[in-house]
Amino acid sequence: MPSEDAGGSAAGRPAAGRGSDPLARRLAAIEAILLDVDGVLTDGTFEPGDEEAGIPERKRFHSRDGLGLVMAKKSGLRLGFVTGRRSGAVRERAAELSLDYLREGCFDKGPAFDEACATFGLLPEQVAFVGDDVQDLPALRKAGFAAAPADAHPAVLESVHFVADAPGGRGAVRQIIERILEARGQLDAALYRFWG
Ligand SMILES: [Mg+2]
Repeated sequence: MPSEDAGGSAAGRPAAGRGSDPLARRLAAIEAILLDVDGVLTDGTFEPGDEEAGIPERKRFHSRDGLGLVMAKKSGLRLGFVTGRRSGAVRERAAELSLDYLREGCFDKGPAFDEACATFGLLPEQVAFVGDDVQDLPALRKAGFAAAPADAHPAVLESVHFVADAPGGRGAVRQIIERILEARGQLDAALYRFWG
């Protein structure tokens, strides 16, 4: 739908199920990005650990998603993870990326979204949420920009503004971040001027 298209080069597709506001306007308002972890920053698989026994849960993150998160931080966006699981791997990743917000063991993501907005001092329309499964729906419905990886649950795909071409843990987050940076006029700087 042309009115939903931001007019840029970043791939992915506006989702059909959500709203008539121009996507570009939604994207340009974004000042913070909250992300579910499993199925968004990972492919959804993990090797269970035992925190009490000192055995960490193991997850696999994608380096291009990681660089996308660094690009977002360097561009002035605030970042947070809102995850249902508790994992040393996630805390380590959050520390590496100097995240602004981290909620673990969180199955009620709507209130977590509100808490993050208050922490950031931002309105819901200034905060994006990226999720892949039904427990993310309350936060996705509140978010100014709701996005999902290509392999998200069908109920999520119907509820978001934007669906990445890539699946979770395989570049979806990078694509979503680049779409936001493009709308903010910061993509060229993030791609070509941060690193030279
Ligand atoms: Mg998930």
